[in-house]
Amino acid sequence: MLDYVSDKVQDESRQGEAFAPFTADPNLYKKQFYIESYGCAMNFADSEIVASILNKEGFGATKNVADADLIFINTCSIREKAEQTVRKRLTDFKKVKKAKPGLLIGVLGCMAERLKTKFLEEEKLVDMVVGPDAYRTLPSLVGEAESGQKAVNVLLSRDETYADISPVRLDSNGVSAFVSIMRGCNNMCSFCVVPFTRGRERSRDAESIINECRELFEEGYREVTLLGQNVDSYYFVNEVKDEVVTFAKLLERVALISPLLRVRFSTSHPKDITDEVLHTIVKYENICNYIHLPVQSGSSRVLQLMNRTYTKEWYMAKVDRIRELIPGCGISSDVITGFCTETEEDHKETMRIMEYSGYDFSYMFFYSERPGTLAERRYDDDIPLDIKKKRLQEIVDLQGRLSHESNKKDLGKIFKVLIDGDSKKDESKWKGRSSQNKTIVFAKENNGLKKGDYVNVKVTDCTQATLLGHIINE
Ligand code: SAM
Ligand code: SF4
Repeated sequence: MLDYVSDKVQDESRQGEAFAPFTADPNLYKKQFYIESYGCAMNFADSEIVASILNKEGFGATKNVADADLIFINTCSIREKAEQTVRKRLTDFKKVKKAKPGLLIGVLGCMAERLKTKFLEEEKLVDMVVGPDAYRTLPSLVGEAESGQKAVNVLLSRDETYADISPVRLDSNGVSAFVSIMRGCNNMCSFCVVPFTRGRERSRDAESIINECRELFEEGYREVTLLGQNVDSYYFVNEVKDEVVTFAKLLERVALISPLLRVRFSTSHPKDITDEVLHTIVKYENICNYIHLPVQSGSSRVLQLMNRTYTKEWYMAKVDRIRELIPGCGISSDVITGFCTETEEDHKETMRIMEYSGYDFSYMFFYSERPGTLAERRYDDDIPLDIKKKRLQEIVDLQGRLSHESNKKDLGKIFKVLIDGDSKKDESKWKGRSSQNKTIVFAKENNGLKKGDYVNVKVTDCTQATLLGHIINE
């Protein structure tokens, strides 16, 4: 379990989730598909695009593998373990196919390009391999696979953003939705496979983003999270209106849809987040006071090897600026332990920067070498696994303490909470989140509230992961 710690953007509990979003009579559909998704929120958002494309062609979704004519697995390559999980699932599906010969199996997403030959020809695990920029061709690829050909499209695009596709919301709570604002990544963090699997960065048409967010609001959604690998480099030129839309402008336009629509975003790269963005957060009450600002390491030497293009001091100055302009802002991080050449002192520097930043939570991983990345080509993966894991355990413990301390500071405070459902442990309680992205659980008190409502809650107790409180009627 230790290579991965549950998080709220890449939710461990959702890994592998299968969806059945259509309630219509299954007989209406010519075929049924089953889709399982792994990895980050962007991958889950992509599965919603895939579902939309397939649905338009008359395919319906099912939650039961046994009912499916098509099985898709939307894959992640970010760490080796994610790939192993997918491979195991494909072997399971191969057994299902033995008993049902007409069944087609497809691999989607980040593993497609790298493993297409292996999956299709060597191991004969799948019938279709489709990269993240090729989902529009899925219906014709299904046709090819049905006629017995091996169907492959892993071409990466410089301009595909699926801007015009209205995603089918899968397994949604009806309150929060992810909205992709860009694809790919132009940064070359040396440990990271994303620029190779998802291609060059491109920003989606601003109008299509605003329209999607507005439609979500009209359907009753009350929170959108704008997604990109590096949202601060969002840049869209609207040639018709002769205007440039930066990320700060985009945030503002989404916030203006309605004060009742909360706006979140992820991920911010410390080198790119601007004062303009911070001022925009301050200006609009409905833009959440929460920033995911991955540090990766606290050692400037390691950061340089990681090609993160900032130093420890630069990062700390960003945290100071956030705290100065947005007092009480929630900050979270991603941290990697055991990157190439990391010494005990580098590791201690990471622990120090975590303390300094006072993260509310972090997503923590040990370094996993990925084929084709700069680090794989340039550096030795020289930290033994037991040391990587020991260091990971130390930062996990530290983060546990920091999260608890951060929660204790909220005791006695009142937060505006967006209710997103029943508490998992106790249906007599609501669960919701504060602007700072903390989960708060509180008694329902039979006062007619429902999912999607806002309510003021006073914090009276806390655990490491959750705030507990009661409703304040004012
Ligand atoms: N674009 C985001 C950013 O720059 O912060 C993050 C994208 S990545 C999908 C999510 C996280 O996975 C990274 O921030 C990093 O901590 C972790 N990660 C990426 N490659 C990794 C690797 N090779 N080994 C371990 N963790 C990795
Ligand atoms: Fe990977 Fe770096 Fe791009 Fe994030 S910013 S996706 S870590 S290359």
